[in-house]
Order: sequence, then C-alpha cells, then structure tokens
Amino acid sequence: MPSKTPAKRSGSPKAAFRVPPQVRPTHYQLHIEPNLEAGTFAGEAAIELTLEQATDRIYLHAVDLELHDAVIRWGRDQEPVQVVPRPADEVVEVRLARRLPAGKTRIAFGFRGVLQKMLRGFYGATSEGRRYAFTQLEATDARRFFPCFDEPSFKARFTFSVTTEAKNAVISNSPVEREEALGSGRKRVHFATTPRLSTYLCALCVGELEASEERRVGRTPIRVWHVPGKGHLTEFALEAAVASLTRLEDYFSLDYPYDKLDLIAVPDFEAGAMENAGAVTFRETLLLIDPKNATLAEKKRVAEVIAHELAHMWYGDLVTMAWWNDLWLNEAFATWMAFRVIDAWKPEWRMWNNFEHHRAAAFGLDALANTHPIYTEVLNPAQATENFDAITYEKGASVVRMVENYLGANAFRSGVRKYIRRHREANAEAADLWRALEESSGQKVNQVVRAWIEQPGFPLVAAKRVEKDGTASLDLRQQRFFANPKAENTKQRWPLPMVLKIGSKRGSVRLQRHLMTKARERVELGSVATSAWVYANAAEGGFYRPLHDEQNLALLSQNLPTALTAAERMGLVGHQWAAVRGGHAPIESFLDLAGRLGDEVDFDVLDGLAGPLRYIDDYIVPDAGAEARARYRGWLSATFGPAFAQLGWDAAAGESDDVRVRRASLLRLAGELAESEPIGAEASRRFLAYLADRAALEPNLADGVVAIAARRGDAAVYDRLLAAVGGAKTPQERRRFQLALADFGVPALVKRTLASTLSEEIPTQDVGLVYMRLFANADAREHTWAFIKKNWTAVAKRLPPMMVSRVVDSTPTLRSKEYRRDVAAFFKAHPVPTARRALQQALERFDLNAELSRRTAKSLGRWLASRG
Ligand SMILES: [Zn+2]
Repeated sequence: MPSKTPAKRSGSPKAAFRVPPQVRPTHYQLHIEPNLEAGTFAGEAAIELTLEQATDRIYLHAVDLELHDAVIRWGRDQEPVQVVPRPADEVVEVRLARRLPAGKTRIAFGFRGVLQKMLRGFYGATSEGRRYAFTQLEATDARRFFPCFDEPSFKARFTFSVTTEAKNAVISNSPVEREEALGSGRKRVHFATTPRLSTYLCALCVGELEASEERRVGRTPIRVWHVPGKGHLTEFALEAAVASLTRLEDYFSLDYPYDKLDLIAVPDFEAGAMENAGAVTFRETLLLIDPKNATLAEKKRVAEVIAHELAHMWYGDLVTMAWWNDLWLNEAFATWMAFRVIDAWKPEWRMWNNFEHHRAAAFGLDALANTHPIYTEVLNPAQATENFDAITYEKGASVVRMVENYLGANAFRSGVRKYIRRHREANAEAADLWRALEESSGQKVNQVVRAWIEQPGFPLVAAKRVEKDGTASLDLRQQRFFANPKAENTKQRWPLPMVLKIGSKRGSVRLQRHLMTKARERVELGSVATSAWVYANAAEGGFYRPLHDEQNLALLSQNLPTALTAAERMGLVGHQWAAVRGGHAPIESFLDLAGRLGDEVDFDVLDGLAGPLRYIDDYIVPDAGAEARARYRGWLSATFGPAFAQLGWDAAAGESDDVRVRRASLLRLAGELAESEPIGAEASRRFLAYLADRAALEPNLADGVVAIAARRGDAAVYDRLLAAVGGAKTPQERRRFQLALADFGVPALVKRTLASTLSEEIPTQDVGLVYMRLFANADAREHTWAFIKKNWTAVAKRLPPMMVSRVVDSTPTLRSKEYRRDVAAFFKAHPVPTARRALQQALERFDLNAELSRRTAKSLGRWLASRG
C-alpha cells in the first residue's frame, strides 16, 4: 500500500475528482478493529444511500485501503458488486450489474489498511513505549480511514463501533452507548449515532488514555484525555473549556450542538488542534499545562486554541462550508472568536494586543507579490492544505473584526445567529453569511467585504495633515502595499472603514469615523487646536497600514505613551518598519522610533519590536561595515539594558504578570539579541540552577535563559539539555529544551541535532519545528540546508505537508544569491505540491531581503557610527 509521500505527487495543479451529487449518503455504520502492535486495521462499512436517479455506477473516495466483500442491497436481497480502484482520483468505482432505480439502498464493504505514519488519516503514534491510533481527517484524509463520500457537503450520520484490547480507551464523536466484553482481554465499544457530520470531522482515538474528572456546562460533560501520568496537567484546560463554552453558547444563543465534549492530548500531532465534533484533538503543548510553571504566553496560547476549536463546534461543524473554497470563513471566524472569548474571560491578558503579533504575520505575507486572496479557488487536496496559512487565519480574522467594527457588535452578532440557525446541520457559503449580516444590520456588507476577500494584498494609506485658515484636514491616498519598492502600482482599491484618532493641543483625544472608497479623499478634522495630531488606524481596527507625514509622525513619536495605546504603539512600530521595507521611509526613521522605546512599559510592544530588530541584525548588519555588528549590539544594550537591569532577574513578591513578562521581553532584546556578555554569563549560571530546581527561575524567563545558555553552550551543556528533554515535567518544557538543541553554535553540536531529526528521538510533529529553529541560527543554517539536501528522502518522510511548507519558508535566512539558486533548483528537482506557493514566497523573500540590504546598509552603518 503506498504511503502518502508528497514528493510522489504530480507537479501541476489538477482538479480533484468530485463525486457526483446524485448519490448521497445518509448514514454510515462503521466497525473498526485496529491492531496497534502490527500497525494495521480492519473494518466494515455499511452506508445507507439515497439515489436521486437510476444509476449503475457509484463512486466513493477510498485510498490506501484494500476493499473486499462489497455488496449492495437490491430490493430485499443483496448482491455482490465489482469494485474498481482509481487510485489517481482517490476513488473507487462500484459497478452494478444493472441499473438501480432511484430511491434508498445500502452498500457495504469490508476493508483493511495500515496505520499511516505521517500524522494523517488513521495513524499510529507512540508514547513511552505505548502504541496508539488517532485520526486526523481534514482536509481529505477520511478516505484513508474508511470508504466514504469525502467532501464536506456530503453530511451524514455515523454510528461507530470499535473492537480492541480491554485496557484501551476508545474515544469518538459521540458518547459510548455500551461496551461488550468479548473474552480473551478484548472488548467491543458501541458509540451513539452522531448528528449529521461532514466526513472530515469524524474522530477515533484508541489506546491507553486516561480521562480527567468531568466538568459540566449545562448538560454537556467536558473531559480532558491524556497519556498516563499527565492527569495533574488538565485543570487549566478544563477551566478554559468551561469559560469558552459558556461564552460561546451565549454568543450564538444556541446550546453546544453535541452530546459531550472530549479534549484529547495527542502525543504526536501535526497541526495545533483539530475541531472534530465532540472529540477535539490537540498537540500536548496546547492542552496539558502547569499554570504555576508556565509562561503567560503559553497559558494564553492554550486558552486561545481551546476557544478557537470550540468556536468551530458551531462555526464549521454545525454549519460547514460547502467546499474548501470557503475554508477561510471557518478559520477566520474561529480565530477572531477565540480572541474575543478569551478577552472576555481574562480582560487583564489584553488578548487583542496579542492578536497584533498574529496580524503582523499576515501583513508580512500579504505584502508579497506571491500572496493570494483570502478567497481562493481550491481545485484539489494539495491546494486545500496549502491554504492553512496566515492569510486564511489572521488576515481573515482581521477582516471579520473590521466588519464587526463597521456594523457594530450587536448587529454583527444577530447576523451570525441568524446564519447559524438557518444552516444548522447543513452547509453554507460566505454569501449566506453576508446576506444574514445585511438583513440584521440594514447595511451593505457585500460591497465592503468582497474587495477584502477577493483581492490579494491590502492598502497603504498615506495620511497628510494639512492646515488652512485655522482648520486642519487630512489628505488620504490609498494604494496597494508591496514589500518590494519597485512593484508596479496595481490600481487596486478597497472600501476602507477607517477610524481616526485625533488629539488636541490640550491633550484630549477623540475618534472620527470615515468610510474611504476612492483612491484619494480629504477629511475635515476641525480647528487646528482641536486636531494637533492624527493616528490613522485607531485601535488597529483596520487591515491597512497608515503612513503618516513626517511632522505628524514626529508628534506621535514624542507623545507615544500618552497619545497611543499599546496596540497602536505596536501598530506604529510595525507600520514604520514596513514603510522602510517598502521604500516609503528611510531606515533611520525606524531606528529613531525604536530608540525611543527603551523605557516602553508594555511587553507586547517590546515583543513587536524584537522581530524587526532581529531582522536588521540578520540581514542588514552583515553588509553595514566591519564595526556594524558590535555597534548595533552596543546600541541595543544601551537602549534596553538599563530597563532590564532595573527590573533585575528575580520577581518581587506580588509582582504583576505585566512586569514579569516585560522582564522576559527585555531579556530577549538586551540578552539574546544584543548578546550582552554579563547577561549571557548570568543566564548560563541560572540555566543550571533552573535544571536542578524549576522554582529557581521566574517562569517567564525560561525561554530566554535556555536559549541563551544553549547559544553559548559546549558539549557538556548540550548533554545536560538533552537529558532535560527526557526528564521534562510538562509538554512545554519538553518543547523548550528540544528546540534549544537547535541553538548551539558549535558545528559538532549542530550536527548532533541534525542527526537526531532522522531518529525517533524527535517526534514527527516536531521535526519541522527543529529545522525552522536551525535555520534561525546563523551558525547552523548552512549545515542544515546541506543536511536536508543530502538526506531528502529520509527528511521528507518526517515532514507532514504543513511542516514542509514551514521549512521551505525558512530557507531565505541563507541570504545569498547562490543559495537562492540552489533552493530553487533543489525544489524544482524535488517538487512538493503542498509547498508550491511557499517556495514562490521564499524565493521572493530572498530577493526582497537582498534588495533591502543593498538599499539601507550604508545608512544603517552611518547611523550606528554617529551613535559612537
Ligand atoms: Zn480552526
């Protein structure tokens, strides 16, 4: 049986075979018997069908499955049928001896398969020597689990039963109805029939798993499942699930649609989590957590991912996109909803500031010529997989947020409620949502939203404040923003629901709304005194970059802490850096702004700054003259070191999360990035103390301290760290230690980490993450690329499709023209269909990075020299 190796697929995009809609499944009776030791499974499927017209052919999806004993019901009898596999189309053709009349029938198969190895379909996983089987069926891998109509619009009911060893837990979408003891240590577990579901939302988990105690929201029991020994890490997830479910039921004004909610921590899992109806699967790091020793960022992420998946129970599961074209709507909505729900649960976490980091990633990607519109035609499974990116999730969520702002929260919510009720247990398209929102708001939603989802890219809005006769106005011009300053003007336009923040000379602040529809418009601001400065994207509510004129920018910069909120300061930093990249501002403008943020009190702003500052160190400093590196790092130390020194390494009693995380952000800037020697030496010392006693270090410092110690470490430190991976007490610790193995500078240690990527030491789910981290390490990236090329056949087997894309994404750190050619040539010879777009984007980044360095390195060198 062929395994799913992406490299084997053909090169050009081809429309997948779609099964004809005249034959529709209504119910699947499925019995599955996995053999965890042998890595195989057997099953029987009986599918109730409705034929809308007479036919002598039935097509079902099935791939990597061996079908046998196929029969179809014919009146009161059943007859054997011929099954012809068409592997290229991932379907089987069932040939009937004669035409079957329209009406109801039932088709049944026996089938056998092997548990997949690439974390997709029905796959095998191992933890602590125990074997498990899990499903991951989105987008199109249900067909590797059982023969089915594997498209989201073919919703049906499912009744699962599973035969396995009595010691195993078995979890599926529905509650267990009864268990039958079969003797010789085996049992059969029968599940209740599900409501109507799309195939990609089915789930099955088999193996020695334990459950937490049960919590309830209304009549819904909630449990967290995990491999043995991790029960003490479930409390936080239960709390977050209860908080999320309560708020979501209220938002949708509709009870949770399934009979129970199981959250399952899967020891080897490709994505972050998967919204299987009633049986949500997660990476362990995103579910099992010890809140006392975790970083605030880890807690936020766990809560956000849980809320995201639970939002899908309504939005995605109960109402499902008709085809993968509208995948974005599922993901954009769930992403937006997660931040909304957690922000309501923990206002002190200021989740929308956290969202800014995600939005920044979407802005970055969408500034490339090789971006794509949010709405993208999907022809085949590879393209569906490719669309799980920052455009679909984060740009989509930003657009949803913008529409909510524009319509008002109440009108938006009633439209969503209407949409969910209207299409429950069925399918819908984006147009159905716009219609419901138009009905609830009385506003033209379609017109505003379509430009955002059907066009690639986003606008840059140049805002120039003009004074005349004692009054001020704002001259606005929009054009598509490109990271490439030489890109041609596309003449694209967006309807822009803008909110302007306007400050008076006396210090008062007001908001002014404006829907910009033309390329160029003028907005009256009122008297000069009441409109001294303007910030052209209040609360960062719009997915566009404002470009302020020099005088206005200077006023904003001088009044940073009072004029702008933390989210706006993050926005300003990101917009100014983008303006430099796109050729709209000199690099000095960004450096001056960054230099003013040494005493910034908000950690999100500092974290937002770290990205561009690291980029400059990696890509521009090397071309800025012999002394540039020392000067740059000296400037970073001088800018951020004093604030770190003032906070010290240890938290004061009763210190707030805000201060604790700010300390960690400053450690990253003044310690990791500036490579300060005294901070580095102290970090190495504290690393050893931390390994001996976790309480020896403020938890938020763990990432930074471990990374710095590894960066400076020798073979002895490597061995300590490797031992710590094995002895890790939580999934987050394990992740932290494992990834830091990629931070060492000594070539022999880089090679040890590379070798481990081909062994079981690193679970399949993490191999891609280790490569990404190695590419981020200046001393490791060239070795890494050479290793990947040399061992490609073995490497490809350890990189599931989404991970390959992320590795391809990381290659531009290699910088040079020669490497660009090499990367292009290598993936031409070894094509990866799920990473076609990622490769185009990576090659574009190589070019853009080189161009930016050519354009700015001299100025950077001069600016640094002028600082002494
Ligand atoms: Zn999702």
